[in-house]
Formats: sequence, C-alpha cells, structure tokens
Amino acid sequence: MSMNILLLNAGSSSIKYQVLDMTDERVLATGLIQKIGGAGSTLEHTVGGEEFSLAQDFADHTEALAAMTAMFDAHGPEMSEIRAVGHRTVHGGDRFDHTVLITDEVIQTLVDLSPLAPLHNPPGITAIRAAQAVLPGVPHVAVFDTAFFAHLPAEAYTYAIDRETAQRLKIRRYGFHGTSHNYVSHTVAETLGRPYEDLKMIVLHLGNGASVSAIKDGKPIETSMGLTPLQGLMMGTRSGDIDPGVHAYLYRSGLSMDEIDTLLNKKSGLLGLAGVNDMRDVSDKAATGDPDAQLALDVYVHRLVSYIGSYIALLNGVDAVAFTAGVGENAANIRELVISRLDNLGFHLDPERNAVRSKEPRLISTDDSPVKVLVVPTNEELQMAREVKEVVAG
Ligand code: AMP
Repeated sequence: MSMNILLLNAGSSSIKYQVLDMTDERVLATGLIQKIGGAGSTLEHTVGGEEFSLAQDFADHTEALAAMTAMFDAHGPEMSEIRAVGHRTVHGGDRFDHTVLITDEVIQTLVDLSPLAPLHNPPGITAIRAAQAVLPGVPHVAVFDTAFFAHLPAEAYTYAIDRETAQRLKIRRYGFHGTSHNYVSHTVAETLGRPYEDLKMIVLHLGNGASVSAIKDGKPIETSMGLTPLQGLMMGTRSGDIDPGVHAYLYRSGLSMDEIDTLLNKKSGLLGLAGVNDMRDVSDKAATGDPDAQLALDVYVHRLVSYIGSYIALLNGVDAVAFTAGVGENAANIRELVISRLDNLGFHLDPERNAVRSKEPRLISTDDSPVKVLVVPTNEELQMAREVKEVVAG
C-alpha cells in the first residue's frame, strides 16, 4: 500500500509543497504557490519530471489549496492516496518538543504562541485550517522548527534578564531550523560511519536565514538563534547579533517599533551592507572590487569563525563540522575562507574536494584532517516526512 505524505510549508503569501512516497522515500511531486491574496497568483506543479503551471488569483490559502488539489486530480499524484499531511510550523514555544498530531487544542496553543512569531505562526495556522478543509479525512501533523532545541541546557537557553519578566513573557532562546540541524547532524554520523552519540559536531545552516548548532552526546547543547530567528549569524536580510541597546537607541532616535523590526529583519545582513542579499551577487560584486560587498563578506566570515571557535570551546573539542543550505552547500569560496582561518585548530581543507558540486553528502577535508569537514545537502522535507510517518503510525 502507498504511504504518500503531503508536506506544506506556508508563508503569509506563499505555500511550498512536496509529496513523498514514504514506502521508499521517493519525491512524487513538488510545487510552489505564490502571491496568495494578491493579484498575479501562480501555482507551479512538478510531477514525474513534467512541469505544469496555473496563473489564477487566489484570495486566500483555502483557494490556493483547492487549486493545488485540482492540479493533483488533473496530473497526479492521486489525492486519495495521501495518508497524512505534515505542516512546517515555525514556533512551538515551550509547549511542543516533538512532532504532534494536530487537534483543536494544538491549534489553540499555536494561536496562544502567535505573539512569539507574529510573522510565521499566523500564516501557518491559516494553512492548517485550509488544508483540513480540503483534506478532512486524513491526519494533519505539526512539525516544529524549534522542537530539536527544546531541551537545550538551561544555561544555554536562559537570557540574563529579570527572571519574572522572562517567565511571564516566555523570553528565552528557542532556536530554529531544527529540522535541518537534526537531519544534517544524523547524516554526518551516517556519512562518517560513527555512532551519533559519540560525535561532537557543529552544524552550519547557511541559507537566506542562517544558524549554527553544537551537538554532543547525541543532543544539541547550543544554537545561535534565539527568541526569534533574528539572533546569531549575519544573514541575507537579517542583522544577526547586535548590541541589544541598538533597539532602544533607534526607538529614541525616532523609528517606530515596526520600522525597527523591518530594518533588522528585512533590510540588514548582506542586503544592508552590500545592497544585495544573495551570496552569489555579493561574491560577484566583491570580485569586481566593490568595497561594500567585500566588507559584507568579511563580516559574514568573521561572524562564522567566531561562532565556530566559541562552539569548539563549549564542546571542549570538535570531531566534525558540516556546511548546509543554499550558501553552505554551494559557496565553496565561503567554506574556504572560513576553514582556512582554522588550520591551527585542526581543520585541513582539501581544495579539490571543496570544489566538487554534488547533491550527495561529502567530506571536503583531507584524509588526515583531525576535524572532519563535510558538506551535507539538507532535506527538511524528508526529515519532516519521516517524523509525520512515525506520528501517524503511532
Ligand atoms: P536557502 O535559504 O537554503 O534556500 O538558501 C538561499 C540562499 O543560498 C540564496 O539567497 C543565496 O544567498 C545562497 N545560494 C544559493 N545558491 C548559491 C550559490 N551557487 N553560490 C552561493 N550562494 C548561493
């Protein structure tokens, strides 16, 4: 019998989807719905290597998902063979430390958690309700970005602020990209042929958003994102770490809270320094001698090296470091810039291995490098589908 699982990743105006057959972990279809709620909505659907597209305005997520089901009916895969739906859910707060079956109570808890993730959780909840309407007969499951980090040590997740305020408002480090850090760290252990529990690892998820995690004794012990996905590394459009005093200073200088939020989340990072947010464009500009792009690269690498150093100290040594996501998987120049600054710490890059482009996990350090350096293409959908399958199987 087929074990097809539909995975949905919803934003406020977009939905990415994928159908996997979990009898053999094969991708059956992928799709992207864009500009939901506005003019010019589109749906792109790929199945069996063929692409189908539809340009039709969708007023909301329900209309968009209805169009997706019509696309399935016309071109496959069979809607009737979908056994479960998995929903990527950004913030599980302190309430969810694992993947759960969605009930009315779970939805209410997500509503209660929405102030912690105002940009992410509300569209997620809208998509859950819309998907339940178009697929009422199958279990719906929530997979949380925060769950992998739910049991960080208290010393890692606690901010040094007034305890009563922190407890009342649930202010602590939560961490994000957990599905990716989970998948990649397990793939590192498999690739090296070593038990997961025996490895001290650092995972660098470098996409448009970026985060680092440190894993020891089979558990994450630290990660760079915090209450929100704004903390930590420099990202495509997010500042990452800055002096917390900057917020109050900007506010007193006349910016509104929304303007400050937008400045730090959408107009900072690579975009803020170099004027472009895609690492390919930043690298191209830097190569032509553009000083702003060069500074952006320098800050990006400096931040990465300093996080890696700090995590080596927390782990008291490291066995393996893995690069993943758009920048980590593709930008050999960034990997080289970072690793070459760690040669006295036992990181020896093999330039030929680093230059290889592949969708497979691979070692890019030399055979005698004390620290193993890897590139591991992340696969959040597969990790989600495995977790959904487990929940559905009970
Ligand atoms: P993600 O969020 O994982 O999809 O990563 C998207 C980001 O990866 C883009 O914004 C680019 O900055 C970066 N990226 C993708 N492909 C490349 C590439 N070939 N070289 C450098 N950076 C890349």
